[in-house]
This record gives sequence, C-alpha cells and structure tokens, in this order.
Amino acid sequence: MTATRSPNWEIIQQELSPLDCITDSGQITKLSLDYYHFSPILQAQLAEKRGDVAIRPTTPEEVLQIARTCVKHRLPLTVRGAGTGNYGQCIPLEGGIILDTTRLNGIRWLQDGVACVEPGVKMAAFDKEARPQGWELRMYPSTYRTATIGGFISGGSGGIGSITYGQLRDRGNVLAAKVVTLEDEPRILELRGDEVHQVTHAYGTNGIIIELEIALAPVLPWSEQIIVFDDFLTAARFGQALSDADGIWKKLVSVHAAPIPSYFTALKSYLPEGKSCALVMVSQGSEQALSDLVGEYNGEITYNKSSQEGQKGLILAEYTWNHTTLHARAVDANLTYLQTFYFTLEKVEQMYHHFGDEVMIHLEFLRAGGQGIPAGLQLVRFSNEDRLQEIIAYHEAEGAVIANPHTYILEDGGRKTIDVAQLNFKKAVDPHGLMNPGKMRAWWEQS
Ligand SMILES: Cc1cc2nc3c(=O)[nH]c(=O)nc-3n(C[C@H](O)[C@H](O)[C@H](O)COP(=O)(O)OP(=O)(O)OC[C@H]3O[C@@H](n4cnc5c(N)ncnc54)[C@H](O)[C@@H]3O)c2cc1C
Repeated sequence: MTATRSPNWEIIQQELSPLDCITDSGQITKLSLDYYHFSPILQAQLAEKRGDVAIRPTTPEEVLQIARTCVKHRLPLTVRGAGTGNYGQCIPLEGGIILDTTRLNGIRWLQDGVACVEPGVKMAAFDKEARPQGWELRMYPSTYRTATIGGFISGGSGGIGSITYGQLRDRGNVLAAKVVTLEDEPRILELRGDEVHQVTHAYGTNGIIIELEIALAPVLPWSEQIIVFDDFLTAARFGQALSDADGIWKKLVSVHAAPIPSYFTALKSYLPEGKSCALVMVSQGSEQALSDLVGEYNGEITYNKSSQEGQKGLILAEYTWNHTTLHARAVDANLTYLQTFYFTLEKVEQMYHHFGDEVMIHLEFLRAGGQGIPAGLQLVRFSNEDRLQEIIAYHEAEGAVIANPHTYILEDGGRKTIDVAQLNFKKAVDPHGLMNPGKMRAWWEQS
C-alpha cells in the first residue's frame, strides 16, 4: 500500500480549488457508507470507516484534476454513485477522497437503441428521457429510482429485465466505457466490446468511469401482477414456466415462499395469510397469456396494475430483488440474506426442505446461457457467523453457487477466482494502488 499516511489536507484543498471540498463530518459519514448493514458481518467490520474529503465533480476535466491530486499526494480515492450498494463497495477503508458522481449526470446521446451517458445518471431519470423516444433500460436494480447507471455497472449484477436480457456482464449489454486513470499522468482511456469488462463490476478499483455506452430495449407497456398460490413449490414451478414461456414478453418473475409475503405490509390486502406469491411484470399484450398460465398452476391474480398507471401507486419491483430484504428487515432486523444460483428447481426444492423456516426462499428468475434459471435472494434467520458459514457451505457442497453478500472483497463475493484482466488493467491504470484500496484481493496478493 503506497497511500499517504498523514496528508496535509489544507494544501490538498488549495490544490483542488475551485472544486468544492465537503468536510462536514455529518456529510462525510453519509457519503462514506452504503447498505452494508444488510449483513451483520459487514456491519461489524465497516460501520466506523470514513473518507476525509468528498467532492462532486461536474466535468471530465474536474475528474482529471482530482485524479492528478490523488496521484501527487498518494491519496486513496473511492468513487461513489448513490451509495446503495450492499457489500460496502463504496465504503473507503483507508480514508482519502470520495468522488461522488451524482453531478456527472448528462445523457450525451441516444440513437438506434444505444445510449451514451455519464455515470451519475439515475436509472429512473434516464428512462424518463428515453421512453418517449421508444427505448428503455434493458435491466435495472430495484433501487431504480435512486441508484446511478455507473454504480450499477461497477457494483451491481442484474435485476428487473434480467429475465430477458441476462446480466450486465452478458456480451452486448454494456458496449463501451471511458475511464480516467490514476497513472503518474492521469488520462482518459476508451474501452470497447469485451475490453469493457476490465472495469465492470470492479468496485471502482481500476479506473473512474466517466462515460458509458449501453444497449437499450424497445419500450413496452408493462403491467404488474401479484399472483398467490397455496404452496411455494407450485409458485416456483409457475415461475419457471413463465420464464420459459417464449411467447410472453416479461420483465420480472419474482417468487416468494410463505411467510415472506407477510413482510410486505403495504401489499397486505393482496396477500392472503399463509400463501406464497409471485410478483411479475409482463407486457400488456401478454396479459391474457399470463392469466391462462396462472390458471394452469391453480394460482390467483389478486392485483393487476395496468401500464397506464406507470409509476403511480404501488411499484411492485420495489418488493423484489433486494428490496425484499429491505422490507423484511424493517419488520425483523435479525434477518439477513444470501444470493444463490440454484440453476434447477430440484435444487430449490432440496434447500426448501432442508432448511425449512431458517432460510426462507425468495427466487428471482433470470436468463443465463439462453435459458431461464432460478436464482435466490433467500432470507436467513441470523443466529451467528459460524451457522451462516455452515448454511453457505451446505449449499456449495450440494452444487448451488453462492455469491456471498457478507464480504466486501471483490473476489470473495460472486467471482471466487481472480479476474486476471481486471488485475492487469489495475496494474496499468492504478500503479500506486490508490483506487478503493483493500477491495481487490488479487492486488494485495500480487504486491
Ligand atoms: C434495497 C436494495 C435493493 C437492491 N437491488 C439490487 C438489484 O436488484 N440488483 C443489483 O444488482 N443490485 C441491487 N442493489 C445494490 C445496488 O443498489 C445496485 O447495485 C446499484 O445499482 C448501485 O448503484 P449506486 O449508484 O448506488 O452505486 P454505489 O453503491 O455508489 O457504488 C457501487 C460500486 O460502484 C463503484 N462506482 C460507482 N460509480 C463508479 C464510477 N463512475 N466509476 C468507477 N466505479 C464506480 C463504487 O466505488 C462502488 O464500488 C440493491 C441495493 C439495495 C439497498
């Protein structure tokens, strides 16, 4: 680690002038943290971590100025979008500068199903501009209204829309990126095609993304439904059948085993006690086909919001993906969660019977390798760390893959292995190891 231990902040702030440096401790606390507290393990490790100074640049030139100052004084630099990550990705472990991207929020152009944006554009704000032009985001996290596109691509994986378009890392979703380096003479590099994945889901450890080109989807009128089932396994089979239904346009297939629906207090009148449910989004033209499929699985549609109602009233997506965990934790703070690729319904069934009420199953179906698969964001009744590790170990021993949300280290989460391309890119663009230090295992192991 080569960062300065006791920087002279007075001189540094003078050099950063006329940029506005935020030093107020309340603001710094807010801008240092994210949703790490969903994990009791991360809560204990990260609650006290803070940056020293936060800056909100508005142009690429200002980003370059910050990069030059960081290199000159060997200051750690942590990039932050909206700070909605779940693994402490944007929490500075070694202090230094927080670069907040929320004012780098321009949409540069949108043409023929491709958009070029700055990283701090919020996803809902983007769609508001894009939809009248016939296009929309292919996928977004359930933090759609608050999170930034740059933060999603650097720290997220997939979400609403992944049932059709797969995950962010699937070829063709993220097309290009411009990145500011922290070399001795910082500069802007452009990455295209496969090269772009040197910086996607890298937690901001190897470059400051200042521009992105993303592929869009044709806009469709989405309606939202709640469907209830007497038992969870039937709900899960319905979820798989809907995911596999090639003629139905869909954006969300989210299935929740009882008692998870009881945590959705605002949806109470649509969720009879003891039932399991599916929360789905299908195109308006697919509603009849959906209703026929629901009949085949003896489900009941208890809520149907037409596309015209748009963002008014309930937004079902805000009960899915990791919003499920948010609502459940609001009722019982002792709950935490896991992220799992089950791949098959047989594996889901096995885990459902094995863990019973200790691990309540929440499935998000997504497209992987050309087919719909069940992934889990299960709710876990937390007792202690050893038991949590046992639960993870059992899943892995039985062939389910866990993307561990209880670590802030890049490789120990979803990847499991060192991403050589990301490491080599870091060596080239961040030779002093200043970017989000402590997050990339490969970096300190090779040092
Ligand atoms: C209730 C809840 C629900 C969620 N649901 C989902 C979901 O459905 N799917 C999903 O994938 N995630 C989900 N998340 C996690 C998170 O909300 C998303 O990944 C979100 O897109 C992150 O965006 P952000 O702007 O908040 O990024 P931040 O949290 O600010 O940053 C995330 C990471 O990206 C880096 N970063 C940000 N901007 C840049 C940049 N310009 N250049 C380089 N690095 C950068 C940061 O350093 C950090 O490591 C959820 C979180 C919560 C709390």
